[in-house]
Formats: sequence, C-alpha cells, structure tokens
Amino acid sequence: MAKRLEDYREIVGDEVISRIHRKMRRLYGKSVQHVNSTFQGGGVAEMLWSLIPLKNDIGLRADWRIIHGTPAFFEVTKSFHNGLQGEEIELNEEKKGLYLGTNEEFARFAHIERRNFVVVHDPQPLAMISQYRKEQPWIWRCHIDLSHPNPDLWSFLKPFILRYDVVIVSHESYKKEDLPVEYRIIHPAIDPLTPKNAPLPRAQAESILERYGVRLDKPLIVQISRFDKWKDPLGVVEVYKRVRQEMDSRLVLCGSMAPDDPEGSMIYKEVLKSVEELIKGGDVVTITAQDDLLVNALQSLASVVIQKSTREGFGLTVTEALWKGTPVVASNVGGIPLQIEDGVNGFLLDPKDYDGFADAVLKLLKDEALARRMGETGREKVREKFLITRLLEDYITLMEELI
Ligand code: UDP
Repeated sequence: MAKRLEDYREIVGDEVISRIHRKMRRLYGKSVQHVNSTFQGGGVAEMLWSLIPLKNDIGLRADWRIIHGTPAFFEVTKSFHNGLQGEEIELNEEKKGLYLGTNEEFARFAHIERRNFVVVHDPQPLAMISQYRKEQPWIWRCHIDLSHPNPDLWSFLKPFILRYDVVIVSHESYKKEDLPVEYRIIHPAIDPLTPKNAPLPRAQAESILERYGVRLDKPLIVQISRFDKWKDPLGVVEVYKRVRQEMDSRLVLCGSMAPDDPEGSMIYKEVLKSVEELIKGGDVVTITAQDDLLVNALQSLASVVIQKSTREGFGLTVTEALWKGTPVVASNVGGIPLQIEDGVNGFLLDPKDYDGFADAVLKLLKDEALARRMGETGREKVREKFLITRLLEDYITLMEELI
C-alpha cells in the first residue's frame, strides 16, 4: 500500500504532520531526482524506499534512478568507499577511467535535466554532475564516515563535489576543512511502519527465527550488517568467544549481500572459516538471506545487539535495534555516538576493546532490569530524533532554502 504521511500521525503526533504540510507551501509540484547505486542492501536504499513515496504523498514529484554499472565498476566504487573511510587504495588510471566512463554513459540516458532538485547519494554516481550544464540545485548526500579520507582519492573526487550546491553529511566531524562547500548535517532515520520496524507479535517472531534455524533456548547476541570489513564481523566473533566463556549464549550474524558491495561473499567466507566448529555445534548461526521480517525478529528477540563497526557513517542497524527496545553494545565511532549515550541507552566502546565489549554484553545478559531500562531509553531517543518524518522535514527545509 502506498505510504501516506497521515499513517504516521499516531506515532509522531498532529503537530509534526501539520508542520510538514505547511513547509511544502512553496514546493508543490516541484520535482526531485534521487540517484544512488542500489535498490536493495544497506541503509541508503532502506531510507529511499520510505522517503520517496512520502515526498510524493505531500506534493513533490520525487523520482529514483539507479546508476547502471558492471561488476568491475562496483569493485572500483567499493574501493572508493573503502578509501573514503581511510583505507590505502591503489588509484590508477584504469579505475578512474572506468568510474568516469560509467558516470558519463549513465548521464547520457538518465535525462535529469528538467528536475527542480537533484540529490545524489554516495560516491558511485557523484561524478555524473560533470556531464550536465546545471539548471537546478544539486545536493550530494554522503552517507560515509568521511573523518579520514584517503588523500589521493579525495583529490580525485573533490572537483566533482565542488560542483554541488550543498553537501549533506551525518556528523559534524565529516565536514572537511579543505572542502569549502555549504554543508548540512542531516541524520538518517528509520521508518517505524515498515515490516522491519513495525511491532511484531512474539509468536510470529519466534516462528520466523525457527524457520531460519535460530533456537531460543539461550540468550541471543546479534549483529545485523553486510559482511563488510568495516562492520568487523570477525571482531564480533572474538567478543562472542569471550562472552561464552562466562555465559552460555548464541551468536547470530545476519548479513545479506548488496549488489553494489562485491566484497561481501569474500568476507563471509572468512567468517565461516573462523567459526566452523561453533556453527557445527549450533552456537553460531550465520544468515545471508535478505528478509525484513527476519531482521525485525532478530532485533526484537535479541538480548543484546552488537554493532562492532570500525567506521560507521551513521548505523541504521543501531537505530532499528533501539527502536525495538533492545540494548545495544557498539563502537564509539562515526554516527553511533549520536544515537547511544554510554551507560544510558547502551554501551559505547573502542572497537579494539574486545574485553570491554564482552564485559558490556555480559552486564546486559546478567541484569535484566538494566537491559530493560536501557532499551526503553533507547526507544524514546529514536522516537524523538530518528524517525522518517523528521528526515522528510529536514529535506523539505533544505529544499525550501534552495528554491
Ligand atoms: N540490513 C538488512 N539485512 C541484512 C543486513 C542489513 O536488511 O542482512 C539492513 C539493515 O536492517 C539496515 C541497513 O541494511 O536497514 C544497513 O544500514 P546501516 O546504516 O546500518 O549500514 P550500511 O549497510 O548502510 O553501511
């Protein structure tokens, strides 16, 4: 069923709904083109599925295009993603050529000339702007942790970024001194009405987990993330090994494969190798299926959710778990501390502090009252700051300024 802003009134209240409608006054009928690189897998696609129908519902003409690329192109753009997050990458002429060629070709048939706004997400389609004579404001929405970009890659991408009118990032620390553009900080958000986030009756959640072979006879520790080195699944295993020395529990690593992330299957294989014995014994379960209800069931029934990222643009998986009232133990990196206040609605740790992670998980497993209290505080924080209606309002506010 088509998404209507009205459907969110019960959760966010009359005032929010009215304010969004009023802010649309100067924007009726305006068209906005979104461009990204996948319709499925990862936080960007997750948000666009909710945001774009809602924009249409309130009177914009919002459209969504996905850059077409070969596997080789997505290998290059994944290396850009890694490089922007600080990894050493080899940037050669061939990679640059493939990146620019794909953007150029896509621009030739994307026909976005007559839009009032263009919003480009992440580095994959960033360079297409150079193919257009600009007729409207272009916004680059970067979802990546930009705190330590690789300098060569940064120099290569900078001329494209400078053509944009506004750059949106998730955190103050992602603003770059050597990039004198107009920035906006906008936080990602979750949709409380999707199958992934709507209340799931316990019996249904249990039967979903049963279908995936996840037994509930021991407390569940869960990380839901693409198999990506920045999400550190091997580190989660290390933490779990420490936890199980003291308390019987089960670890679930759930990570579907995203079409624009070619490294997933390689990392997944590494993880499988490291937990072969534990998988045989049934104490570690790995899942690569994409299933929103499964994600909901896991986040709802987990005793603790871990997010052990070493870099994290924002971390919607944290938001989703908090929304279900499940306590989260996570790394103190990127956008995660925007969501978790250490000791209040979860625990924040240095990503290398395996013992600290294990201690925090154990604390929550042993103290139900603490877990419940942290869960409740977390849910309230999400209600206040990270629901999709707020994201919609942030976008409209920005468009109103730019029109
Ligand atoms: N996700 C999913 N299934 C999985 C793994 C992840 O549906 O097996 C979703 C997750 O629920 C969240 C998004 O993908 O909505 C991940 O967003 P996040 O910001 O945490 O990380 P990203 O993948 O964008 O780096």
